[in-house]
Amino acid sequence: MRIQLNPGWQLTRRTYNGQPVGHFYLTHDAPLNLAVASGTSPLAPSTPPVATPVPPPASTLPLPPVTSPPSSRPTPLAATPSLPPVAVRPTPSPAAPGANGGVVASGTHFRVVVPITGPNTLQQVRAVEPEAFRTTVDGQAMVQVGLFRDRPRAEEVYQTLVAASLPAKILNAQAPATATLPPIPTVPREQTLVVIDPGHGGRDPGAIGIGGIQEKQINTTISNRVQQRLQEAGLTVLMTRTSDQWVDLDARAQFANRAGADLFVSIHANAISMDRPDINGLETYYLSSGERLARNIHSSVLRNTDMADRGVRQARFYVLRYTTMPAVLVETGFVTGSVDAARFRNPAAVNQIADAIAQGILDYLRG
Ligand SMILES: [Zn+2]
Repeated sequence: MRIQLNPGWQLTRRTYNGQPVGHFYLTHDAPLNLAVASGTSPLAPSTPPVATPVPPPASTLPLPPVTSPPSSRPTPLAATPSLPPVAVRPTPSPAAPGANGGVVASGTHFRVVVPITGPNTLQQVRAVEPEAFRTTVDGQAMVQVGLFRDRPRAEEVYQTLVAASLPAKILNAQAPATATLPPIPTVPREQTLVVIDPGHGGRDPGAIGIGGIQEKQINTTISNRVQQRLQEAGLTVLMTRTSDQWVDLDARAQFANRAGADLFVSIHANAISMDRPDINGLETYYLSSGERLARNIHSSVLRNTDMADRGVRQARFYVLRYTTMPAVLVETGFVTGSVDAARFRNPAAVNQIADAIAQGILDYLRG
């Protein structure tokens, strides 16, 4: 779509608390009364469509990543004292945060993506940011690397991608409708507190594999069973999400930090490409202090299932980078792998994976 404006009118981006808001205003150079008196509307009469290359829709325009956001322009509207201030959508208050506060994500978010330009784009991005997954934004195939409340976090990820010569973009995104973490209960210090993090959720399905299998559902099933097993063993377990809801990566990490968790285990399923059903197997990731925990979980799953071994690996997953306790991320098999996808469709086999992860956590705690 091409928008043509009459003279004097322009598209104006507003900022709020230093961050651009996710919509645009039509503003005029003249004060409101003069603009109205002139009788011009913002939009020029529509012209017949022309067969020129269509610019991308506004929501996919790359934002300048490094420059500071444009300051709020003093608009003529703001200078007219009789007018109420332009309303900015109020931040919804959390429903009922606990004493320590649930974490609520709201306002404009920043989506870091890499447009898919070839068969290897997903692999190339995952080599840098392993939690990336394939999605579509406004009908365009993209690899989504992350969705962040904080622009600096988005820019850090963006810079990592650019350094790897990937054509990354930062897009404005709507805040998800619900992204409330459960309140953090008071846990006695002598109790071992484990935070289980079921990856993705809500409008973020994670990877989608053979037969339309969705990663978020696998993550939920396995995580719930791990929680149940650990509670039976007397541990206190908190979940970063307890229903099919989207939770910001930073909120997940901060939840574990605030709760004072002793361990953090993020549960995911892997994906590579629908053209590679031959790639199957277990990968367990850590970044720094989680190595022994990763090895305990990994060997327990290999011992108790028939999964292929793709190794214990080190990676800079967001939730591993920003948690302060031993933290691991388990990729419980490939939704794009023929063997693993079949296993994911077998409830008994999925339970085996979950039980083995719980056993690995207990092995770790027994030293
Ligand atoms: Zn995932």
